[in-house]
Amino acid sequence: MIYDEVQKAIANKIDEEPKLSNWKNWKWQLKNSIKTLEQFEYLTGIHFKEKERADLKKTFDKFPLSITPYYLSLIDKKNYRNDPVYKQAFGDPKELITLKSEFKDPLSEDRDSPVQGITHRYPDRVLFHVSNICSMYCRHCTRKRKVGDIDFIPSKKQLSAGIEYIKRTPQVRDVLLSGGDALMLSNEMLDWLLSEVCSIPHVEVVRIGTRMPVVLPYRITDELVSILKKYQPLWINTHFNHPNEITSSSKEALAKLADGGFPLGNQSVLLSGVNDCPKIMKILVHKLVQNRVRPYYLYQCDLSEGLSHFRTPVGKGIEIMESLVGHTSGFARPTFVIDAPGGGGKIPIMPNYIISWSTNKVVLRNYEGVITTYKEPDNYKHTCDCDCENCNLEINMAEADESEAIGIERLLSNANETIALVPENNKRIQRRNHKNV
Ligand SMILES: *Cc1c(COP(=O)(O)O)cnc(C)c1O
Repeated sequence: MIYDEVQKAIANKIDEEPKLSNWKNWKWQLKNSIKTLEQFEYLTGIHFKEKERADLKKTFDKFPLSITPYYLSLIDKKNYRNDPVYKQAFGDPKELITLKSEFKDPLSEDRDSPVQGITHRYPDRVLFHVSNICSMYCRHCTRKRKVGDIDFIPSKKQLSAGIEYIKRTPQVRDVLLSGGDALMLSNEMLDWLLSEVCSIPHVEVVRIGTRMPVVLPYRITDELVSILKKYQPLWINTHFNHPNEITSSSKEALAKLADGGFPLGNQSVLLSGVNDCPKIMKILVHKLVQNRVRPYYLYQCDLSEGLSHFRTPVGKGIEIMESLVGHTSGFARPTFVIDAPGGGGKIPIMPNYIISWSTNKVVLRNYEGVITTYKEPDNYKHTCDCDCENCNLEINMAEADESEAIGIERLLSNANETIALVPENNKRIQRRNHKNV
């Protein structure tokens, strides 16, 4: 556990008699979160000129500031304008710029919400927003529209709507507790919520989305781990964006979670000026796997309002993937995704590895640029004749129902006669229908 000079100096300014036990207490950290420009200036010694102060104040009126003393202590004060922690935690007047291409809710999470707190987008899993608060307000938050709403930890009664929805929706096998930050709930509340969700027979796995290991690692206490342990299988995803965030405190938090037996994943967002560099990303993913965290997703920055200064071209993400595929361990490589505006869900993006294709040969290239061929079988016997009853593959029919296939899966399915997916309001098809009448 590090309690370095910078942290001591910050604690000194907050408390008359600073104690390490306070610094490591997550409730103390929350109580002393930095919420004003004045506090930020006082604690860091960084001072802004009048014009910039006025602009920053306007920014914080629209998108409030909140930084834990711990996360603040990671800012390199000498080079703060280029510091990845500063850029993620402290506002920029550019947030007030709104482009025509931006949305308040680009992923239509509110429209895909059958009941308060639930976003049900994919067939078998739901996102359950269990709090609307976070210990630190990321400046690049995709739910920026909600940041600064009245701080709100829902009551058991309010969470019940979500629980009831999951109970009456048997196709939900995976529940993702997010927010806000799911670990902003008290231990008692988490215990209750997890026991409710995990007792639903069709729920097979639960996931928690939290940035606590990054911005408030002291939230990961032995007591918390012992509560979460009761609800295996529980997967935990966190959100590291830059190697500077991997400190001895965050390593300790990750070790507690990994020792608790939770599979750990990381979701990074590609951010201009923070991590839009193949070298930085490679160091980050290596540090993550050293700490038993598997890089899960790398997100293209969403089209939320006020994020234009953070956005990179999609090509930057492809360049990063190009530098990882083949060059490093497969499990150190995230999937690069664009979360489709309008609520289409996450779409994986990769560099192209298939160069060409004939009826029995595929031409591929590898990460070194070597072009290679793969000869396909000449006499592949198409074993599937749709006679599932007499199939000798070991299919558990109850779990392999293709009749409900949707989208491209439906086009590939033999159990379904759909031959094309046509957009609604397609003019050509409308003309045809008209003629038929
Ligand atoms: C990301 C997300 C999920 C989970 O998606 P996975 O690809 O399974 O990790 C579920 N619901 C919503 C609304 C999401 O945005």
